[in-house]
Amino acid sequence: MAGVVLAVCGTARADTIVLKNGRRIVVLSVTQEGDKIRYETPAGTLTLPGAIVDHIERNGWPTVDTAGAGTLSFRPPEGEAVAPPSSEKKGEIEERAVRGGEVDRSYIAQLENEARSGQPIANWNAALAHHTASQHELAHGDMELALADAQQALQFMPQQPVFLMDVAYLHLRRSEYTQSLEYLDRAKRVAPEDPDVTKLAGWAYYGLNKLDQAVSEWKHSLALRPDDGIEAALKKALRDKQEEEQYRENESSHFTLRYSGASEPALSHDVLRTLEHHYEAIESELNYSPPDSIGVILYTQQAFADITQAPAWVGALNDGRIRVPVQGLGSVTPDLSRVLRHELTHSFVRQKTLGRAPTWIQEGLAQWMEGKRSQGTAAALIRMAASAPDQTAAHFVSDWPKMSDDAVSLAYAWALANVEYIIHEGGVTDLDRILGRIAAGEAPEAATRAVTRGDYSRLTSDTVDYLRKTYGN
Ligand SMILES: [Zn+2]
Repeated sequence: MAGVVLAVCGTARADTIVLKNGRRIVVLSVTQEGDKIRYETPAGTLTLPGAIVDHIERNGWPTVDTAGAGTLSFRPPEGEAVAPPSSEKKGEIEERAVRGGEVDRSYIAQLENEARSGQPIANWNAALAHHTASQHELAHGDMELALADAQQALQFMPQQPVFLMDVAYLHLRRSEYTQSLEYLDRAKRVAPEDPDVTKLAGWAYYGLNKLDQAVSEWKHSLALRPDDGIEAALKKALRDKQEEEQYRENESSHFTLRYSGASEPALSHDVLRTLEHHYEAIESELNYSPPDSIGVILYTQQAFADITQAPAWVGALNDGRIRVPVQGLGSVTPDLSRVLRHELTHSFVRQKTLGRAPTWIQEGLAQWMEGKRSQGTAAALIRMAASAPDQTAAHFVSDWPKMSDDAVSLAYAWALANVEYIIHEGGVTDLDRILGRIAAGEAPEAATRAVTRGDYSRLTSDTVDYLRKTYGN
């Protein structure tokens, strides 16, 4: 059985604010305070005037914050941009920079003009406006714009820890760990005892597979301020570190490999060569290159089960690092090569979509990339579509790790068939366009519809037609 990305199946729920103009804002949590709606986003707390809000839907949608990052469910810095005492306009700027759910670019341009007058307070005002815009864009899933605004804010106030952390956090979300650390190092110089700086630095080191540094940053952060999420991350990192203490390390252009000293020495070399080969193939199919080195760990069977605590049917997994049991292997077998290609596809898809790809696309594409096709399952899927049509959509929405073994097998089969159909019709390009839209913040079904011109139920019926035509009845 192929591995599953436990990561993409985050169970965190969120709320949706529905505005009177029909716009929906997915948020981590929301509270009403007087005539204001205050809501938490991955970037911090924002407010909306109650008058423009129609209603609030509770627990409607999985949050984009934890999805895909797996155990990397890092949260944004908690600090607020503290205005200098000479600024009297903080509230005003925050309200005017984003009005009626839109960033007011002309207002921000006006503040930028004032900043060119050279007054320090005007610089602060322009930075705050960009910071506010950045948070708004992040909350609406536009990572590109969010980063552009965060960088603008920093141009006006290059020494402000909060603005440095904004940029660092956005790089983290894009799996750009080395870049993130550059900004965190700058933040550390001005705010060495800020728990958010060390917390984010821990995540960046963790992403770079530097467990020692990650552990020491998180310990420092916890000493400064308690944090349940960091507590859990630290525990996991310490477990990994203990297991990997005796491991050897090897690396190639795109991978850092750790492997048990008990495994065959030639194997690590062979695994790296295989991974580089797959990397090149997936890179050109998906038009994307992960920014930093990808971590891979080869385990003995028992260590894999102990460390990952994954369900028994999981053969390998990818929770940010690719974890593969290889006990008894002396070289890369065709099966191991397929597993590596499958798991590596998950890394590409997750990084390319900033962790937003739904499980069915992740698993469908990973299976397709490893070379699987639907001939063995087509008949069963066609029968199921006729006899139990209501069960053909479970894989689009359900939390896969919570499914029974049979249901998981079916979910894999449907996901592969859907992806196979999309690629058959429009090439990998179409799938890539769907990923691009998801990366830009579009919901998976809307992204699929925009490219294939059908919603999920249409995708199911088209997939069944395709299976009939291709594999017969
Ligand atoms: Zn998988």
